Amino acid sequence: MRQFDVLVIGGGPAGMMAAATAADAGMKVVLLEKNSSLGKKLNISGGGRCNITNAEYDTRSLLEHYGKAVNFLHSPFSQFAVSDTFTFFEDRGLPLQVEARNRAFPVSQTASDVTAVLSRALKRGQVEIVFECEVTSLNRTDNQITSVSTTRGMFRAESVILATGGLSRPETGSTGAGFGWLKSLGHTVRHPSPGIVPLATKEKWVAQLGGKTVEGRVTFLLDGKRQFKTQGRILFTHFGLSGPTILNSAARVGELLKTGTVTAEIDLFPHVDEGSLDQELMELLELHKNKALKTVLKEWLPNGVWHVPNTLLPELDTEAKVHSLRKADRKKLIKLVKAIPLTISHLMGFDRAVVADGGVDLREIDTKTMRSTLIDNLFIVGDLLDINRPSGGYSLQICWTTGYVAGRAVATA
Ligand SMILES: Cc1cc2nc3c(=O)[nH]c(=O)nc-3n(C[C@H](O)[C@H](O)[C@H](O)COP(=O)(O)OP(=O)(O)OC[C@H]3O[C@@H](n4cnc5c(N)ncnc54)[C@H](O)[C@@H]3O)c2cc1C
Repeated sequence: MRQFDVLVIGGGPAGMMAAATAADAGMKVVLLEKNSSLGKKLNISGGGRCNITNAEYDTRSLLEHYGKAVNFLHSPFSQFAVSDTFTFFEDRGLPLQVEARNRAFPVSQTASDVTAVLSRALKRGQVEIVFECEVTSLNRTDNQITSVSTTRGMFRAESVILATGGLSRPETGSTGAGFGWLKSLGHTVRHPSPGIVPLATKEKWVAQLGGKTVEGRVTFLLDGKRQFKTQGRILFTHFGLSGPTILNSAARVGELLKTGTVTAEIDLFPHVDEGSLDQELMELLELHKNKALKTVLKEWLPNGVWHVPNTLLPELDTEAKVHSLRKADRKKLIKLVKAIPLTISHLMGFDRAVVADGGVDLREIDTKTMRSTLIDNLFIVGDLLDINRPSGGYSLQICWTTGYVAGRAVATA
């Protein structure tokens, strides 16, 4: 049986940060990863660009985005805050840039560059990485993990850091194994549900807009009554709706779906009222009165969305010349683009989720060290923790912070 100071299970962002930090503090570290490479999910994060953190440097303001976990997070963020994430990566040759809504990305716009920085840090710390090594059980005597069984034999270490991730996108390796072990060790694990996740619609016509994005406002209704609005980028997919504004509404929509029929109305022109929009359209039509309506719609409506009136207003002859458009049809057109109706059938599952919520109850984790309060030499980091957060770099920041804190703590344990 191989003996180490620190054993890290899982080579995602939280595990890599924990292993690199412990090694930097002089620990002899082994990292066990069941895939044949590191950071599979990290490499697809942010659409392959990796939204590495959210550049809100005021920790108090940042933590407002983490719901009930805010009190728990003060201590870890006092050890490793957003500014430390910038320093960590930029000092290691990966400059970052800040985009809309404070979202920070590598200047190279390449998620695998983030993995590469962490891999180099592991190498420099002489962390032994064992690939294609699936952990099958954590073996316990009293309140200690005494050894870890894997498909490549048994390992033993003074401290064990668990970083096996949550349940979203299981094909990347995150299959939720850690939740099962933690439960059997006596931890309370809130059952995860897909958290930040796209919405499926009953209407199949959205498929023809698959891959197209628009800036707009979505109003969600329950049994025809307005519930809440959200504004931003909306992505049409072959099954329904996605994009940041939709993903961040999914949890609320999920709650509404439990009680009734949920519809969404998309306003493609949220900054203009119906009257002004009608005026604008009339001027445009006047300019192009001898063109086919289809040509004008393509110019007027963003990014291929002219398919919508073409599909939803069959009475509209889009091949006909603009001057033959009737006033009543023009009014219908305006009403439609101010409130494109869709019926939400369900939330998509873990296979499409960006982040799954749920995880280990934070009351069972020591906030200063990420140590389990039940098992003395077990530390828990990253997506395994029950921390709700929106999209925008907030998830990876949790990995950097909790990974760092656990890596430091094992060095002084
Ligand atoms: C499509 C997508 C895009 C995202 N984009 C962003 C973004 O831009 N910004 C952001 O902040 N967050 C983003 N996230 C969320 C972010 O990727 C996760 O929060 C983060 O990857 C969690 O890191 P982790 O280290 O806890 O776990 P994971 O990244 O899930 O890594 C866990 C590792 O453990 C390994 N493992 C699991 N079980 C075992 C076992 N039994 N034995 C050995 N190894 C095991 C897995 O193979 C995996 O390598 C995105 C998520 C998805 C799915």
